[in-house]
Amino acid sequence: MIKIILKKIWKWRVALTISLAIILSIGTTFVLATSQQVEVQASVLNIRKGPGLAYDVSGQVKKGQRLTIISERNEWYQVRISDNQVGWVASWLVKNTEVSATTNQVASVISGGTPIYQSNSESAKQLTSLAAGVNVSILYRENGWYEIKYGTSVAWIKQSAVKLSSQVESDAQTENNIITTNTSNATQVVVINANNTHLRTQPNANAAVVANLSANSTLTYVKTVNQWYQVKTSSGKVGYLASWVVTLKDKGTSSSTMPKVASNLAESTIVLDPGHGGNDSGALSQTNQYEKTYTLEMAKAIAARLRSAGANVILTRSSDDYVGLSQRARISNKLNADAFISLHFDSNDSANSVSGVTTYYYNKTRDGKLARSLEGQLSALPLTNRGAEYANYEVLRENTRPSVLLELGYINNQKDFSQISSTSYRQAVANSIVNGLTAYFNN
Ligand SMILES: [Zn+2]
Repeated sequence: MIKIILKKIWKWRVALTISLAIILSIGTTFVLATSQQVEVQASVLNIRKGPGLAYDVSGQVKKGQRLTIISERNEWYQVRISDNQVGWVASWLVKNTEVSATTNQVASVISGGTPIYQSNSESAKQLTSLAAGVNVSILYRENGWYEIKYGTSVAWIKQSAVKLSSQVESDAQTENNIITTNTSNATQVVVINANNTHLRTQPNANAAVVANLSANSTLTYVKTVNQWYQVKTSSGKVGYLASWVVTLKDKGTSSSTMPKVASNLAESTIVLDPGHGGNDSGALSQTNQYEKTYTLEMAKAIAARLRSAGANVILTRSSDDYVGLSQRARISNKLNADAFISLHFDSNDSANSVSGVTTYYYNKTRDGKLARSLEGQLSALPLTNRGAEYANYEVLRENTRPSVLLELGYINNQKDFSQISSTSYRQAVANSIVNGLTAYFNN
């Protein structure tokens, strides 16, 4: 019943506004590493007053213009545009290669027998030790530690144990890994849920208590370390709160969050989440094909289209690996994704009984616009559009960013599966998502 009512309310059609914003991103841009200059290949690129989308646009540069890099912060380059003009550009808009592979900074191990750990603590499980001169690929930096690639997984190494090289590693297979970013966002606050919540010196339950906080007090959010929030009190005291005992919110909102998002697709960071993976196969087709296989194929097709539109696209997994649900949400939160799109295929107890695509959201204020924008475009697909609905899914619930979960057809419906397993359907979905996101950023 609820399903039907919501469906009606949500059957809004968003006017398709394919703007020029897409055109500006078609060209690729690249770094001329030796001279620390970038040449703008996109037709237009926004220059901002600071290193983030929250800063105002101070100007634009055009294709062919050269910018000298002065510094880098939070994945943004500070550039000199002319003798007296300095501004910031999103590094992913000037460093993307044609294949848009993720580039990782490489560092080399300084001395032999350097341990690497499962998490960023010397008391964490030691995975192995590395010989001097071994190159590691850095994914993320946190509290004096680097998260590095370790086989198909990740590990942590002390920042002081390695020397950064000027080399970067390009590896399309690492796109699911977290790249260095800073989630520090002065517009977010942490609200205490219960009295006597401990603010600690370190992000762990054994660390000394700095203060006891009372329910409903708010602190400025600084960043997330593992599952702890680094916060600042009104008196300037810095400490850590366990994320599971507090609530992260946007400043000035009570129960809802409206994260700041990019103003166009080319400037955006999109996290695509192929459902399931590894020993979690998801639902089965009538011929026992796994859902996890098709969610990944779908994600890759969408990623390719979004990248050609200039977006910075991250996959929560890019191979047949198991990734936990909270980790998937964390990737979105850590990267300050402008949109998080989880991809799934439905299944029904009775095969062939239900058909069509459904869009799910968790927080209407935060996700509603994204859900509407995407849902409106899914009507272009050859399967019935079942509309948008609320659902309490962990990848949405634990997300702090605008997020949706798409069930792109019933895998155990023969008609749907013939679409799900076809490349033409993937292309159609990719088109709908590009159009939906374009509408989302432009409205
Ligand atoms: Zn699923």
